[in-house]
Amino acid sequence: MREFQHYIDGQFETAAQTFESIDPASETPWALMPRSTAEDVDRAVKAAFRAFHDSKWSGLTATQRGKLLFRLADLLEQAAPELAELETRDTGKIIRETRSQITYIAEYYRYYGGLADKLDGRYVSIDKADTEAYQLREPIGVVAAIVPWNSQLFLSAVKLAPALAAGCTVVLKASEDGPAPLLAFARLFHEAGFPSGVVSILTGFGEDCGQVLTSHPLVARIAFTGGPETARHIVRNSAHNLAYTTLELGGKSPILVFPDADLDSTVNAIIAGLFAATGQSCVAGSRLLVHKDILPILVERLKVRAATIRIGPPDSMDTEFGPLATKRQLVHIEDLVARSLNAGAELIMGGKRPSSHTTGYYYEPTILLCKQKDIPCLHEEFFGPVLSILPFENEEDAIASANNTPFGLASGIFTRDLARAKRVSSAIRSGIVWINTYRMISPLMPFGGYGLSGLGREGGAEAMLDYTRTKSVWIRTSDEPISDPFVMR
Ligand code: NAD
Repeated sequence: MREFQHYIDGQFETAAQTFESIDPASETPWALMPRSTAEDVDRAVKAAFRAFHDSKWSGLTATQRGKLLFRLADLLEQAAPELAELETRDTGKIIRETRSQITYIAEYYRYYGGLADKLDGRYVSIDKADTEAYQLREPIGVVAAIVPWNSQLFLSAVKLAPALAAGCTVVLKASEDGPAPLLAFARLFHEAGFPSGVVSILTGFGEDCGQVLTSHPLVARIAFTGGPETARHIVRNSAHNLAYTTLELGGKSPILVFPDADLDSTVNAIIAGLFAATGQSCVAGSRLLVHKDILPILVERLKVRAATIRIGPPDSMDTEFGPLATKRQLVHIEDLVARSLNAGAELIMGGKRPSSHTTGYYYEPTILLCKQKDIPCLHEEFFGPVLSILPFENEEDAIASANNTPFGLASGIFTRDLARAKRVSSAIRSGIVWINTYRMISPLMPFGGYGLSGLGREGGAEAMLDYTRTKSVWIRTSDEPISDPFVMR
């Protein structure tokens, strides 16, 4: 079995304890992962704190930090095929997606590398005589970054790239499920020339690793991606260090289809929005809201298109649909489908493990039709390949159904009517709206949700500000002695 190491303070170390990682396509253990302990976390955070203040890092100009990120981006591009194979092996995500996604992740490091020396302070025309004032932007300190098991390289890039560009140091905890690509990625920081301690990458479980990291007194900033229940733990942990915290959480994202939509394009976008990545995406368009007049034709077209999806081994370029990442995920989906059918959902297709793939955590592309609004599949996150359809009467009804959720991450609107697209996008409570498209990303655009989908935004230039804080500097320019000391100036 292959053995991975964690990366602490510039050193690759074999951990005292390990755990087995399961290949989701064969259900067999294939690698040993480091089970980082509280002591490992403490060393990594202390190293990050030292590195933050050490002139090897803090003495670099912002332009030099940017160049390190450019070098990292080049190395990442070169390593993309190897990292993609590891991600596919460890999580079951299909190789078609991991290869293209990892190559694109390099753009996040380039984007924030380019921003590093464009983050200016501000001279303030202060309302006091004989005084000059300005605001500086300083890096906030040690960042604790925590990611879930899906797209670990991508979800870490949106934290690492702005944090490092701003001058912070980072301790990153990979998920206990599928950490191989992140642990292998650690060596690129080494090769790119980042000083020791600036980035450490560990993996381990929530309680003994993630909890210790997010409550550590030297941590100034927490950047978390995961589920809402864990997010509540994170917020409680942050009571110890009062670290500034951002949360990227789950979703139950609606796709609204109006009668004038281009149905060929819409069907492919719905398939891309849910069945790509086997539905294991936080922005999965898992609630399809369809105008009642086009419900039968859209359901039929979706059924025909979904039936052609090629299920297969995730490491084959022909495969479009692989296994789920974990058995836990499979059990959760089976349970939620069963509860939804009991509550009155109609099974249009799928709803079981495919007979062609009895080994591996495979689950068929599944479509459920709901005639009432209170069925669990319309409200709970599957994080899997299950599409729940609900018809609507008119625009008002569509908006009400779209907003009938505590989540608010993404939404899709399909219509040729521009005025309607604008109206509906304003009325929907979600951090991202895609109009006549779905599941697009770019480092240039912010990403994040409303309500239970999270707090704060990642991506876009503004995200870098969240890794800084301002320092207000006041300079008295008069040589006259200060007069009355008992009044505020
Ligand atoms: P999870 O919340 O179970 O775990 C996420 C991470 O938190 C893991 O690394 C885990 O070890 C760690 N963790 C667990 N308990 C902890 C604790 N007490 N203290 C600190 N860390 C702890 O999530 P998951 O099952 O791995 O991932 C699926 C969830 O992630 C879904 O809800 C999905 O929607 C969400 N997600 C959101 C986004 C986004 O950008 N909004 C992206 C991907 C996934």
